Amino acid sequence: MVEKVIIIGSGPAGYTAAIYAYRDGLDPLLIKGFEAGGQLMLTSAVENFPGFSSILGPDLMEKLYQHAKGLGCRMIDGNVSKVDFSVYPYKLFVDQEQYETYSVVIATGASAKWLGLPNEKRLMGKGVSGCAVCDGFFFKNKDVIVVGGGDSAMEDASYLANMVKSVTVVHRRDSFKASKIMQEKVLNDKRIRVLWNSEVVDILGDTKVSGASVKDLKTGSISKIPVEGVFIAIGHKPNTDVFRGQIDIDKDGYINTNGFTKTSKEGVFCAGDVQDRVYKQAVIAAGWGCMAAMEARKFLAEKKII
Ligand SMILES: Cc1cc2nc3c(=O)[nH]c(=O)nc-3n(C[C@H](O)[C@H](O)[C@H](O)COP(=O)(O)OP(=O)(O)OC[C@H]3O[C@@H](n4cnc5c(N)ncnc54)[C@H](O)[C@@H]3O)c2cc1C
Repeated sequence: MVEKVIIIGSGPAGYTAAIYAYRDGLDPLLIKGFEAGGQLMLTSAVENFPGFSSILGPDLMEKLYQHAKGLGCRMIDGNVSKVDFSVYPYKLFVDQEQYETYSVVIATGASAKWLGLPNEKRLMGKGVSGCAVCDGFFFKNKDVIVVGGGDSAMEDASYLANMVKSVTVVHRRDSFKASKIMQEKVLNDKRIRVLWNSEVVDILGDTKVSGASVKDLKTGSISKIPVEGVFIAIGHKPNTDVFRGQIDIDKDGYINTNGFTKTSKEGVFCAGDVQDRVYKQAVIAAGWGCMAAMEARKFLAEKKII
């Protein structure tokens, strides 16, 4: 059997693509991936997804899952381990199982990079965050740390400075690698202090973050900084390794598109964080999922497959 469309990924982009594709009569097959539900499974309250003033990330993803499943979308567990877009219909492999399809929506997301500290995982959603725009609101009038020295760390520090009590940027080197304009914004902002040559070596707190241990990399001394929030802003890794050599991918691993959802391969579309270098928000990922499904439908109609 050749599928009309296979959707890869079960985050907001993948489930939305599935809902649209199903309602368009494409009978989509969705491959959920090892991290079913995607990044929002890692967080607690989500307060910026329209229609929900506050909902737990995993509950929101359960609702999206139930919506797609309730319509009748077919879903399988597992990761796509290999694709072959050089033949048509395209081939996809999940473990040893081979699937054929006339079109594909890639919605494999991007994984936030973390420091790898044991307490970081334990306190995630309880003061540890990977997203200032998502969680900054919860830290009004509180002290926070931002870890990193690139554009996203500068962006997060400037954003947070407008709402929190104090921002301390902790950076391992003696200069930022962010663009000059972003650096200047941070360095000229009196509300932000920078700890150069410093590293967060532990995050403190029982049920929520109460501080961080920061090591001075020049002297080796460790000091405890009382904060209620630790924002990790050391970048994202798009989940695109499996597509390398099959479609155009930029140097950071994001899928290159035509500006919308088309990849460099006809009939292969993408949606969500896997191609989003800027916004990385669930509602936007969902929007891209809708667009990709609509494009897939148009493509299949033009090819007279439907
Ligand atoms: C801690 C945290 C808190 C956040 N809070 C908010 C918030 O409050 N509000 C907000 O709008 N956004 C928030 N975000 C951002 C939001 O989670 C993302 O923008 C959104 O999840 C992106 O959706 P996506 O569908 O593109 O990808 P993802 O959610 O990353 O989902 C990707 C999916 O692809 C699957 N996958 C990956 N590789 C493969 C493969 N090889 N084969 C099959 N499947 C694969 C994964 O299993 C996963 O299901 C937060 C992110 C984090 C990390």
